[in-house]
Amino acid sequence: MKNSDFVCNLWAFYDLTNRAIYSVAGKVYSLPVNKEQQFKMLKQLAEFDHYTVAQQELEEHYSIVQADGSQFERAARLDAMQDPNLGLFLGVLHKLNKSLPSLDDYSNPNAPKQIKQEFPHELLCIPTLVCEDAYGNRKAILTEEDNSWFQAQLTGENTEPTLRDEQTEEYLRLQIDMLKATNEKNIIQSPPESCDLCQKSLETERFLVDGALIGHSAWAFMCTSCFGENGKGIGWGKGQLFSQMKPGEWLQVAGFRDESEAL
Ligand SMILES: [Zn+2]
Repeated sequence: MKNSDFVCNLWAFYDLTNRAIYSVAGKVYSLPVNKEQQFKMLKQLAEFDHYTVAQQELEEHYSIVQADGSQFERAARLDAMQDPNLGLFLGVLHKLNKSLPSLDDYSNPNAPKQIKQEFPHELLCIPTLVCEDAYGNRKAILTEEDNSWFQAQLTGENTEPTLRDEQTEEYLRLQIDMLKATNEKNIIQSPPESCDLCQKSLETERFLVDGALIGHSAWAFMCTSCFGENGKGIGWGKGQLFSQMKPGEWLQVAGFRDESEAL
């Protein structure tokens, strides 16, 4: 008796720059028969497992006609995801079904057979949209929060950090040495009000870097985004990281002088 089912994750890759779905991918799993459990596991895997599968171009009949009349071949608009027949993914599903390995059947030891495995008629598969920015960073849209982030990207009323900025912020967060920060209590005496590079107000910024610039000898006060593009790094001689504790109060949290060097 088989106590597992084939289930699938399907991904459509959406290019934020060109505003189009340009490729798809899928992966089969064999999971315990409990539907609720299957659904939960698929959702979990959907977030990152797209990194393990090859993307396939959209089929020929997908194309987008742009406002100026030019055609964008093998691309689809977002509403292609709403198709209940999963037309966008038919090619992927077909390939996945064909790729299932056969099973050996030794029930008759004199005549062992091979049994072809196939998808069940009611295949559970979850389609997920994966956004890709101009740098190739991906983000799977799974939660309500992801979706509002995505909508903000589409309407252009985007005040949220871009994908790249999220990664920069994550890098900065990892540099923090709170113990040292509390001991040193180094607060910027006359803090800048805006980023030296993009002139953005620092009012709502969490981090500020006073650091060296790639390809320059000068230093600058940088917002997270500008640091991601221009900063050399955090560390003594490279950059000091400050965190905004209260409005206008910037506490140094990383990039302290090395104890060994201070001697
Ligand atoms: Zn900036």
